Amino acid sequence: MPDAMHIQRRRTLSGLLRATALARLGGPLAALAQTRTLPPTPACGAPASATVEQTEGPYFKRNSPLRLSLLEEGLAGERLLLGGRVLDTRCQPVAKVLLDFWQADAAGAYDNRGFRMRGHQFSDATGAFRLDTVLPGLYPGRTRHIHVKLQPPGGPVLTTQLYFPGEPGNRGDGIFSTDLLVSMGRDASGAVATFNFVLG
Ligand code: FE
Repeated sequence: MPDAMHIQRRRTLSGLLRATALARLGGPLAALAQTRTLPPTPACGAPASATVEQTEGPYFKRNSPLRLSLLEEGLAGERLLLGGRVLDTRCQPVAKVLLDFWQADAAGAYDNRGFRMRGHQFSDATGAFRLDTVLPGLYPGRTRHIHVKLQPPGGPVLTTQLYFPGEPGNRGDGIFSTDLLVSMGRDASGAVATFNFVLG
């Protein structure tokens, strides 16, 4: 039976590992992440309903790298900053939620051999997340979308997809949901998409 001290040690160790992993995100990536600013999160009104689940599709891969930016040398496409918060149904932030993103590149292709356009991160103490990427390209049969899996500590996995307003392909896509539309804005570097996930 694990005693309290054992549990405390394990917690400390996992905290250290997380701190080490985040430290590795420093340098150019951290600098890049700080060059762009997301709009403030709107205030919470009535209790929010949980974010709807969607199919993961055929291209999910386990063990994506821990990173806040999918940008890399030579990557084509329009820069996109995707951010927001993870909240519970009472609009309280949920920290340390694993968010695992994967998407097509600007040409509509998934990398199924390596991990281009794939990465995971954890929501911070305010539930916030932010991903530097490019607008996903189109591929046959689907409208523009980004895939994501979310998992709070010790909780169930929520698999879903995010969509973009004003896309001609939204109408004809049988999986598309208006509940999963991001809010779009722009800054000097490109498009800024905001979405708040709600965990039930
Ligand atoms: Fe897809």
